[in-house]
Parts: sequence; C-alpha cells; structure tokens
Amino acid sequence: MKIAITALQGAFLEHERILEELGVEYFEIRKKEDAKKEFDGLILPGGESTTIGKLLYELDLFHILKSKIESGLPVFGTCAGLILLAKDISNDDKRYFSTMNITVKRNAYGRQLGSFETTGSFGSLESVPMVFIRAPYIEKTGDDVEVLSVVDGNIVAAKQNNQLVTAFHPELVKNFVDIHKYFIDEIITKR
Ligand code: GLN
Repeated sequence: MKIAITALQGAFLEHERILEELGVEYFEIRKKEDAKKEFDGLILPGGESTTIGKLLYELDLFHILKSKIESGLPVFGTCAGLILLAKDISNDDKRYFSTMNITVKRNAYGRQLGSFETTGSFGSLESVPMVFIRAPYIEKTGDDVEVLSVVDGNIVAAKQNNQLVTAFHPELVKNFVDIHKYFIDEIITKR
C-alpha cells in the first residue's frame, strides 16, 4: 500500500510521521509527475485552503487529483483539506475539488476560539483527542454522507464513500494513530 500526501503548504510532515509509525509507505506530491503516479490513498493536510488551492492550480495538479478522487481514490482531508473537498463553502466564494456533499464554514469558531483542544467520539472510537486550529466545521451534509463526529453540536468529521474528512488535526497529537488507521482500514482496504 502506498499513500500520497500533497506537500505544498501546511502540516504534511506530521502526517508523514504517523504513516511512518504505522509502517505505511508514502510519498509527497509536489509536481505533476508525482500526481500521475499510482497510489492507493491521498492525504490532503491542513494549512491554508486558499494557498493550497492556488498551488494545486499553479502546479497543474488540480485536474489530475480531482479526476482520481472522482474515480474513487481514497482521500483523507484534514482541516483545510476538508475545505478543498467540500461542494459548498458558506462564507467563501471559492470552490476547489467539490467532490463531497457537504457545506462547510471556514474559520467557523471565530477569533476568540481560534484554536482549542478537546476530546470527542469518532464513529465507534471514544475519547479521541481533537486539536482545532482556525478550523472549519460542516454545516450541512447531503447524499451519501455519514457523520462520524459531532462536537458541541457541530459536525467535525464525516465520510462519503471514498472520502474522509476531519475538521480537527489528528496528525498533531503525539502517539495517536487511530484516525489514520481508520482511513487505512475502513476506506482504503475496504475500497
Ligand atoms: N483556516 C484554514 C482555512 O480556512 C484552515 C485551518 C487549518 O487547516 N488548520 O483554510
């Protein structure tokens, strides 16, 4: 199994460390040739969705990756990665891959609560540590979307067939690999 990680901006090294811990092979996508390779899963890390979105176009990665996702490639988007996959962004005119039937709100927690940590459940997992950094949340879900986690009444993780998203950053929690394991076991392996 080989997982690709877009390494354009943001927290991609942290995802790599987790995959190393899990003993899963990975490589970085930085240019078109990387995106054209064969791989079993894709991670879209957190960062700044506008910056990552712009780089996806400038580096000519956008259409290759979008068509792979549309063809069923397992993809895991964290935070900004969630925004990139959303069909609708309620407080922004930009759209990116638009492959997931969710409406998201960017920077949804406002300035005061810009960053915070909590624990919550995720599917059948309990007490999952969750780090939120200027995070979005999901305001609305559409067809085929399964809600995996709700914190304070807001949807913060969901899946739609081959697509998994979290508004929080599982890659920023030391020695915590459960969400990545879920991506591998439930999305990639069961594809
Ligand atoms: N605020 C960022 C955005 O809107 C997301 C933050 C993150 O990925 N930690 O793109």
